[in-house]
Amino acid sequence: MSGIDSLPPLRAVIAEHGLSARKSLGQNFLLDLNLTAKIARQAGDLSGCDVLEIGPGPGGLTRGLLSEGARKVLAIEKDARCLPALAQIAEAYPGRLQVIEGDALQIDPLQHLTPPIRVAANLPYNVGTELLVRWLTPPDWPPFWQSLTLMFQREVAERIVATPGSKAYGRLALLAQWRSDARIALTLPPDAFTPPPKVSSAVVHLTALPEPRFPADPAVLSNVVARAFNQRRKMLRASLKGLAPDIEDRLIAVGIKPTERAEQISLEEFCALARAVAKT
Ligand code: SAM
Repeated sequence: MSGIDSLPPLRAVIAEHGLSARKSLGQNFLLDLNLTAKIARQAGDLSGCDVLEIGPGPGGLTRGLLSEGARKVLAIEKDARCLPALAQIAEAYPGRLQVIEGDALQIDPLQHLTPPIRVAANLPYNVGTELLVRWLTPPDWPPFWQSLTLMFQREVAERIVATPGSKAYGRLALLAQWRSDARIALTLPPDAFTPPPKVSSAVVHLTALPEPRFPADPAVLSNVVARAFNQRRKMLRASLKGLAPDIEDRLIAVGIKPTERAEQISLEEFCALARAVAKT
């Protein structure tokens, strides 16, 4: 037996290594290997790709990524208790799994990866959102990753893919959709996890676009969007007042009514406004 067939079931791994789930580390494990393989498949064609996995835990998704053909998986895990279970997987897939113990927010994994690179993770939600924002705002575009396949609380997933006019629409949707295609690939009920979290989850798949959908300076766009949504109930002429003394004229010049609210403004309009604001 080789590969995944030589590995014990995840429940046995958890019992053997005493991996009782810790709330402080956001540990809700996926133990169904059919499900982890299905999530791995959402990440696209993994053959010939290095995959960065954050928070492998006992390794359910890691096994899925390897069995689905990843050239190499680099896994960063904060909980040292998981390392022996991950070492067992590394043994079953010689040369294809590298594990780094540490906090993914503090580690730069790029020196260990060769393009093309995909990212896959079932992470604690707060860490996931922080990393997503970092991955979406690199110093240069295109980013190091070809795609991101990430588990979120369903409500956060809906914010990432939201469109204008909906309550979920805001900074996260604009940030995600400006330079990537974002879609919900799967939704999962709480009982897919051990222990079950309080809310449903969803896997979001983002693919990096070669170039932004519409031109804009990233810092200016981010500032415009932040101001507009910080006071999302206000009309734009009020929420954006601090941006330029003649903001009403600039809004009108790009075809946006100054009495509109942030929720109604499309990505294309925000980009046009960012360009108008950047003009001196
Ligand atoms: N991927 C595994 C699965 O699907 O069963 C575990 C998922 S569990 C929701 C989150 C994992 O992320 C845990 O193993 C936890 O220890 C790890 N983790 C939490 N914070 C982390 C951080 N800052 N850096 C790296 N790993 C982290």
